[in-house]
Amino acid sequence: MACNRMRCGPWLLLQASMLSNANAWSPKPPMYNIQKGDGANVSDGKKHVSLYSKDGPVEVLIGQSSLDMIHKDPNIVWLVEYYDQSCPHCWYFSGLYPTVAKAIKSPTVRVGAFNCIDPVNEDVCKDVMFFPQLFSHNLKAVGDPKHKINVHKGNDIDKSLTPKDIAEKLSQDSNGRVKILHPHVFPKPTTGKLKLVDSRGPPGKDGWTDEGIGSVASRFHDAHIGMCSLLMNGYTSSKKYEAALDVVEFIGRAYGKDEEKVFADLLTKLKATPAMEAKVFKSTMHDWMHQFSSKWVFCKTETCAVWELFHSVSALIAIHYAPIKVSEALPKFRFMVDNFMDCEVCRKHFITSYDACLFGRCDVLTNKDPDLQAKALVMWIWRTHNAVNQRVISESPPKHGKAIDRRWPAYAACPGCWQVDVVNGKPAELQTYKGQKNNDQPVYAVFDEETVFGFILKVYLGQDGDGRLRLFEEIPSLSWPPRIVSLTGSSQFIMSSVCAIAGVAALFAVWRTSHKLRKMSALADEQEFLEASQVVE
Ligand SMILES: Cc1cc2nc3c(=O)[nH]c(=O)nc-3n(C[C@H](O)[C@H](O)[C@H](O)COP(=O)(O)OP(=O)(O)OC[C@H]3O[C@@H](n4cnc5c(N)ncnc54)[C@H](O)[C@@H]3O)c2cc1C
Repeated sequence: MACNRMRCGPWLLLQASMLSNANAWSPKPPMYNIQKGDGANVSDGKKHVSLYSKDGPVEVLIGQSSLDMIHKDPNIVWLVEYYDQSCPHCWYFSGLYPTVAKAIKSPTVRVGAFNCIDPVNEDVCKDVMFFPQLFSHNLKAVGDPKHKINVHKGNDIDKSLTPKDIAEKLSQDSNGRVKILHPHVFPKPTTGKLKLVDSRGPPGKDGWTDEGIGSVASRFHDAHIGMCSLLMNGYTSSKKYEAALDVVEFIGRAYGKDEEKVFADLLTKLKATPAMEAKVFKSTMHDWMHQFSSKWVFCKTETCAVWELFHSVSALIAIHYAPIKVSEALPKFRFMVDNFMDCEVCRKHFITSYDACLFGRCDVLTNKDPDLQAKALVMWIWRTHNAVNQRVISESPPKHGKAIDRRWPAYAACPGCWQVDVVNGKPAELQTYKGQKNNDQPVYAVFDEETVFGFILKVYLGQDGDGRLRLFEEIPSLSWPPRIVSLTGSSQFIMSSVCAIAGVAALFAVWRTSHKLRKMSALADEQEFLEASQVVE
């Protein structure tokens, strides 16, 4: 097959996706495409992404017409979830909510959900700041107004109620209007312990098997998308205007040497309409983002792209590329999460750990030497991410097979990053940090942090040894597509792999090359092809 860009773009992508592990563990549940004729109130002919399937127990609510339907008959009790399809705690809740629905649904009790990231739901969701949120309508009596339903034990957002707890609470609060009609759907309490890797112990089964396609260019590209999606999701009203400008200005300075013009252009557009409304802000960001393709290349989740942003910025400061002092950057990470992270639990965990000096946060500025401060910044954000990795895997451990290890980097990716003694079975020691207020999320010394620091610079910037090279600046010079002559047997296999890799490399260079090429329709098609492979039709 001749490797012609117009003809085999999708094919290249297919080959490339086969290079990654289709069975790799991910906390992300399936996403469904809902369209006209699927039973939900879809009238616009577009596809709407949903965490719930079209014929499942949770009704897919779409747009104003669905809200009107809820308000239409005050005799019907409605339970309505508002979620963001990219928020990890919405993913976890999407595993529980259908069971609540199955237990209580009846002709007079209906259960549904709005995906607030879908632009069609923008007005419907405008009063909801954090996700997931659950509300009832007409719960206690006919015409009873909208009430928030707490899905946690007390006020502790780390302790989720079970579907049975939620259904029983609704039933108690509803004066008999909600009945548990199908109690058999509640899962039996599990007795055995969750299968988790010992966080003090040697490396377990690799939980990062898709890392191969994470090049410097692809991570860097996704970091830009991470900034945009963080801001767009969190910009709930014009009150966020100043904070958004602050973030764009900060990231613009971090990436500034090469991208001064693109960021200046964005700032000019944003400043043209002071205190812009959420809709205008989102469309401005969207237009800006589109110039370099708005889809992820390496990441499969929106929060991954936010991490790529944080790691790349801290690493750029560490190599003096970004002219930003650590004393400015450190609180700016807190500021970005506090103002714009719409996953309520993620936000709370990050802010609480920051304020409690966990993971070495309060060590960062202790050192007088700016280089050591910058290194400490990189390592703090790395430890913070690793603590979240462990939390994520404990929230949704794999249902089958061995426990997997989400400590990063995996042993296979960087054997030297691990302490030899720990690899050989000696339990790692507890690490504590300056000013640390609690030990709720213990850190064990399983890694050789010097090597990890070097590994981070290499993975995120392509920085090797003492050099100052940033690989992503080199990649656009790759020639693509490669020349293919007539092929048979194994040479065909090798060349198709080369062709696939070249295709991916070219995609990974989208960010850099897009300055020159602007938006190429062939690439846009390929991106859609990639995205479609992650959605269940
Ligand atoms: C600020 C923030 C707070 C969050 N808090 C929570 C939370 O409290 N609970 C929750 O369930 N989810 C939380 N998340 C989401 C969670 O971290 C993951 O992003 C999400 O589960 C998707 O995981 P993923 O498989 O895409 O990989 P991600 O964890 O998003 O990782 C993306 C990539 O980053 C690289 N990476 C992984 N670990 C590190 C590291 N330590 N240092 C450097 N690079 C690394 C890897 O290449 C990986 O593929 C948070 C996200 C963010 C941005």
